[in-house]
Parts: sequence; structure tokens; C-alpha cells
Amino acid sequence: MTASLDALPLARRITGHAYRAGASLVTTLFTDEEATLMRYHYAPDPSFDRAAGWLYDGMAAAFRSGAARLAITGANPSLLANEDPDKVGRANRAMSRSYQPALELITRFHINWTIVAAATPAWAAQMFPNDAPDVALGNLWDAIFATTRIDSDDPVAAWKAHDANLQKRAAFLNEKRYAALKYRGPGTDFRLGLADDHQWLGGGSTAENGLYCIPNMPTEEVFSMPHKDRADGTVTATKPLSHQGTMIEGIHVRFEQGRIVEMRASKGQEVLQKLIDTDDGARRLGEVALVPHSSPIASSGKLFFNTLFDENAASHVALGQAYTSCVRGGEKLSPEELAGKGANKSLIHVDWMIGSEKLDIDGITASAVAEPLMRRGEWAD
Ligand code: ZN
Ligand code: ZN
Repeated sequence: MTASLDALPLARRITGHAYRAGASLVTTLFTDEEATLMRYHYAPDPSFDRAAGWLYDGMAAAFRSGAARLAITGANPSLLANEDPDKVGRANRAMSRSYQPALELITRFHINWTIVAAATPAWAAQMFPNDAPDVALGNLWDAIFATTRIDSDDPVAAWKAHDANLQKRAAFLNEKRYAALKYRGPGTDFRLGLADDHQWLGGGSTAENGLYCIPNMPTEEVFSMPHKDRADGTVTATKPLSHQGTMIEGIHVRFEQGRIVEMRASKGQEVLQKLIDTDDGARRLGEVALVPHSSPIASSGKLFFNTLFDENAASHVALGQAYTSCVRGGEKLSPEELAGKGANKSLIHVDWMIGSEKLDIDGITASAVAEPLMRRGEWAD
């Protein structure tokens, strides 16, 4: 488990429940945002190309021997806003490189994993800037509980019903087997080819260890694998992207044959540039996800400044690493076979939001017939 020190009370409660549920050993890595800032202020420049590789190797080793993974998010969305974007980019890249073996085990569901959120003072202050700190913190907890269905009478039953809904939607799309999706909206005119043998997923998954898990709480998306060479046209992001402590806003990109060939952002452009320069796969897409505008997070009208929530408020795409499980039988394919189907490979996986109540999406069948899939941000059927 990873958590910030601000999430200590929740981490402790989860630890207790984990042991009672049969966990043999709970190991939590706590992070401290003050210490992170000290690194940016005092650490020698060359050190920003390094990461605690031994730590991530250890995590990968734990996953290989069956450890489950739980991340508690809730970081200050603007922690690194005033730090040198070059250092931020290099540190992120070094971290991504070291984390790659562990991330690979997660993205192919070798283990059961999930991400949940804890309200923290800095995050709450950013979301509710006009409220007193304790009121803001309470408001953020309420928002987390509402969007993760914890405030319903029977949260477990609510999750089961929600999960069944997402599975049904994914099954519908799997039956359709669209060759591509066509997006139209303000600043967006975009055609995205889907990977060969792609598979839509939504809600829970059975990991390779046989355990059923709901990765990401909240989750509102059905998602699949785009073909890394088949994205063409322009896309405008509909929400700001909070990435590793920096806000990236007003993202507008143009794709040609899967690659970003033009990019601008009204804020955080340098960080975005460094991000897509991480490797060749960082400027290609690894995930496509559909979320109706009426989902609880979208209808809350709140911007969370946290991808776990904001990506579930809108249809989105992700730059970088694809999820192997989004190809039929993908877990058994070699890296070359996966690439042949169109699976993207990268050190990064960063979701950004392109959906809104103004977005129309068509499904394009194998015989090039366009069928309405979403209209004004809602499922067309
Ligand atoms: Zn997603
Ligand atoms: Zn994603």
C-alpha cells in the first residue's frame, strides 16, 4: 500500500481490515510532501535523473510473489507547480523507468489492485478555496463518498449493481467490434482506430491470481485499446489535467497515423512537452475510454484536480502504455505479437479528458458504416 502521511488514519483502518480479511503482511510506504519539496529545493541537479530503483524492484518482486497493490491517492494537486519543470520532467521520467517492471505486472492484472482516495487538507483547499480548512476537508470527504457510492444504504450492493452495468456496456461494445471511433465536438475532429482483437472492459476484472478486483474506485468508464498507429485529427481536452503536482490546461493536439505531431497547452506546456518526449510511445495512445456525461462525477460539476476522479467524469484517452488485458488473450501474447495488434508501449500512462456534453461519438463498423454511439455526451441507445 502507498499513502501520503495525510492519509494515515485511512491507511491504518485499511490495514486493520486487510488483516481481518486474511492478509498475511501489510507493508505501507508513506510519502511526505514536505520532504518531496525539500528534494526540489536542495538536492543536487544530476540526482533528478535518478529514482529509488531498488524500491520499485522490490515492489515488482512482491507482485511476482503474489502481493496485492492498493494505492491511496490524495496528493496536493499543485505541489510542484512552482518547481523547475525540467527537474519535474526528469524526476518523473526516472521514476517511470524504475517503476516500469512493477507497472507492467499491474497493467496485465498479474495481481489484484485498486486505487482509492483520501481527503487531504491541500487537496481540499484547492477544490473548495472559499471554505474554512475543516469545512473544505469535510466537503471533500463527502464528495469522495458520493462518487464512490459509499453514501448509499448498502455500498457493497451498489458497487455490485454498478459493476454489472459497466460489464453490460462493455459486452455490448464487444459484440459490435467497431473498427474505429469518430469524435466530433468543439475543437475536436478525430478518428481513432481500435486495436485488432481489442476487448472492452469495465468495472471489475479477474486478475491472473484468480482474485476479482475493482481497479479504481470510483470507476465509471468502459475502456479498450486504441491502435497505436491509427489516430488522426485534432483533439481538444475538456478538463485540466493534474499531473504529478502540475496543472496542464487547454491541451490541443493533432495526431497523424497515431502520433502527436502538433501540441499546445495554455498552461503547463513545458511539462506536457517533456511528458510526450519520454519515449516514442508517450506521444501515442494506449487507452480509449467512454464515460457518459450523466455519471455521478460529471453531474457533481466538480473538478477534482485528481485524475482518478476527473477521468471518470468524461470520456478520455490516455497517452502511453496500453493495457494488455484490452486485447483478447493478450496476457499470453509476446511483446512483438501485442505490438502487431496495435498495442502501444511506453514508460508513461497519462489519461486526459476529451468528453463533454457537446461531444458526439460514432462507432465505425468494419464495413465503414457509422453508427451513433454517444450523442451530446450520453449513450445514444
Ligand atoms: Zn481510463
Ligand atoms: Zn488510464
